[in-house]
Amino acid sequence: NNNNDNQKWTAVYVYSDVAAWIPAALVKQEGTNAWVMVPNFPNEQSMMQVDEKWKKNALTEMIDTSGYENGILPLQNVDQHKGHLCEWGDMVGLPYLHEAAILYNLKKRHLEEKPYTRTGDIMIALNPYQWLTELYTNETRMLYAQELIWNVSDKDPREHLEPHVYEVAALSYKGMAVDGLDQSVLVSGESGAGKTETVKLCMNFVASVHDTTTAAASGTNNTIVQRILDSAPMLEAFGNAKTRRNDNSSRFGKYTQLQLDRSFSFAQASAQLAGSKNEVYLLEKNRVVSHATEERTFHIFYQLLAAPDTVKQSIWEGLVGTTNESFAYVGPTTCDSIEGKTDGERFELVTKALNLLGIQGGSFVTLMRCISIVLQLGNIGFQPLPDNEDAAQIATIPEFEALAELMGISQEDLTAALTKRTFLARGELMTVLLKADQAKDSCHALAKEIYGQAFLWLVKEINAATCAENNYKPDGGAPSSFGIIGLLDIFGFESFDTNQFEQICINYANEKLQQKFTEDIFRSVQKEYEEEGLNLADIAYDDNSAILKLIEGRGGILDLLNEECMLPKSNPINFTKKVRTQLSSSPHLDMTPLDHVTFRIKHYAGPVEYLTENFIELNRDSLPADLKRCASSSTNAIIAQEFKEPQETRDELEGSMQRTNPKRAKSGMTNETLSSRYRTQLSDLMKDLRKTQSRYIRCIKPNTLKKAKTLEHQTTVEQLRYAGIIAGITISRSAFPNRLPNTTVLARYKTMWDKKKFPSSSQINDSDDEKRRADCIAMLTGLLEHMTTRDKSGKEVKAFVAGKTKTYFRGGALEFLQSQRLNA
Ligand code: ATP
Ligand code: MG
Repeated sequence: NNNNDNQKWTAVYVYSDVAAWIPAALVKQEGTNAWVMVPNFPNEQSMMQVDEKWKKNALTEMIDTSGYENGILPLQNVDQHKGHLCEWGDMVGLPYLHEAAILYNLKKRHLEEKPYTRTGDIMIALNPYQWLTELYTNETRMLYAQELIWNVSDKDPREHLEPHVYEVAALSYKGMAVDGLDQSVLVSGESGAGKTETVKLCMNFVASVHDTTTAAASGTNNTIVQRILDSAPMLEAFGNAKTRRNDNSSRFGKYTQLQLDRSFSFAQASAQLAGSKNEVYLLEKNRVVSHATEERTFHIFYQLLAAPDTVKQSIWEGLVGTTNESFAYVGPTTCDSIEGKTDGERFELVTKALNLLGIQGGSFVTLMRCISIVLQLGNIGFQPLPDNEDAAQIATIPEFEALAELMGISQEDLTAALTKRTFLARGELMTVLLKADQAKDSCHALAKEIYGQAFLWLVKEINAATCAENNYKPDGGAPSSFGIIGLLDIFGFESFDTNQFEQICINYANEKLQQKFTEDIFRSVQKEYEEEGLNLADIAYDDNSAILKLIEGRGGILDLLNEECMLPKSNPINFTKKVRTQLSSSPHLDMTPLDHVTFRIKHYAGPVEYLTENFIELNRDSLPADLKRCASSSTNAIIAQEFKEPQETRDELEGSMQRTNPKRAKSGMTNETLSSRYRTQLSDLMKDLRKTQSRYIRCIKPNTLKKAKTLEHQTTVEQLRYAGIIAGITISRSAFPNRLPNTTVLARYKTMWDKKKFPSSSQINDSDDEKRRADCIAMLTGLLEHMTTRDKSGKEVKAFVAGKTKTYFRGGALEFLQSQRLNA
């Protein structure tokens, strides 16, 4: 195509039976037909006419081709040798790496029921949406443990082992037990991608390794292991819910540190699982009071309501005879089982697991009463007073009476807390009456807070019952220290049509993790080059610290938000204006005119537009002092304990005053917003993670239908981008986009070499690494001589570098060799 007028072409990756994925250029489109140019396929540039199916099978992307000669795409992405047709368990081996090639490879494996694929040290896990039971047997666990933990041969067992989540778990285990380094496994991916299941598989692996090598652990220690394993599904009952995207969606982030008794490890490369600690992030409390019709609120509500009446009676008689429809916060649902178990069956399992943790008898009833209180709060209605529209009274008297009794709070106190606000003004206590809808909002706020606090209480209880310090009794005296394997199951990057406060929090965490990810990849590339004996002067990579600075830095978005939250007349428009004016110099804030409650951040994974309407309210995340005080007087021990504040009432009222006084607020109150707590949590998490050796599992959701053996192209590629897989590969290939083992280089280009005639090919098949390297250098220096360039300082830069076992090619070099070989 010599037409230079139109410099922008659409790059199309065509999926064809013959060529698999190849990048091509869309040349012309007429109605449902399109002409694409497929460079060098089969052997020369050819035009292929494809029918409308191309749309379905193509990934299109506008690219600027102005830099290319005659608008022709560079050939480096095209595999003329059907490289894509074979399958790669480790994609680092792919001779050509681009999105289409990765996608092709993953799809092929997915259809063959191989969910796991490596790219170097990163494990990609495609959700199979069917339990491939033979992948998760005891034998499989043993195999990976044998090969990866106890195998002492020089050969890397990964050369013959299929990639597996157990591989990551086994390497972490070995790193901890043998090398003595704390470990972490960072699992990421979008909702439904399989993070939670992956983490549980890792946990089971770690729990079972020790038992398979030594006599079964002593009774006490068995109980701890069981508690640790049970704590995961138990937290799911309270923190997971059915959403459109996942029937068992975690509505909170979780970092579980498994503690292992190191005193076993050095002798036997085996360490007893001794305890665990959980840290949780951002429970979606709002789900307590509302959920979309096709979704559900947290599982525990349905489970409790599915319990037999005898159990309900023992908790609270108000539950007897009730169904989901009896409670406004629950309501009808078409779904009564998750992952093959009904809500009733789950309730039994949860009860058992709670018992094992020591939450039984009285404390079990107290916890379930918290859940009942939340349910009942949803059923309280208000109406305006007959003589005053601006004041509210309870409209549902029997429900309210039952609630007051259940909470153990007098009806007067509870009414006052729900329908009035007290505050200090000029040293005097003032009371304002709430309107009916405001009083209803008070109920919602209280319900959310009680649920949130009960959840945190449960996490604390689990930690107390599972942490090694309290519970573990070493078989042979006190353990010297505990090794850690941390498992992070945290929400992946999100970009929806409407993105709000939750999304910025989630994406902020992902930026933090991405920063660590790029550092780690960079380090591993550095290590590889060092092992290959290469000089790595020219590896450069983009880091995302500027985006993080924009969000969490001094005077950044979170600071501006916290300041706004302190103002008496805060509002989203002012906040947005401040972001857009005060942070205008950041290249990562998109200044394209938007409406006045929107700004756009250019994240590492792509731009996201945030609607700021709910930022201030959600960031404040505070319950009015009246409600807090009232709740703290409850006879329910969990509520009383979790709502108890150290300050005296008056101090507390002054606290709410401070919120209306920005000058005073600046000093003391800044720490109290949700984002500042979260910022501290994330910074602690990063500190913890930096003390560990991290491994990455990137979970990918192959389709939105939750169906086995189905892979949607576009959404899968987007996830690969979000997961930083493409970016990671770009870093590792920035200086040398292609690499081949020296043995392959010699075998493949030998014939060309012979033609040019230098040393005879008999010299080439040497078995010695060093000789092979020398042969590669001699051969490629001859073949690629014309591609040698000079750097700024005039130093010679060859088109390849031969390392100990692999040759690395600069852009264009391998393509040149391939085309020469074709023409030969
Ligand atoms: P969320 O962010 O919503 O919590 P998630 O990434 O944690 O999502 P999971 O709950 O782990 O996703 O997985 C979603 C569903 O996918 C599971 O309930 C299960 O049905 C299926 N699934 C996940 N992993 C596997 C697997 N390894 N084998 C078979 N099915 C799986
Ligand atoms: Mg999950």
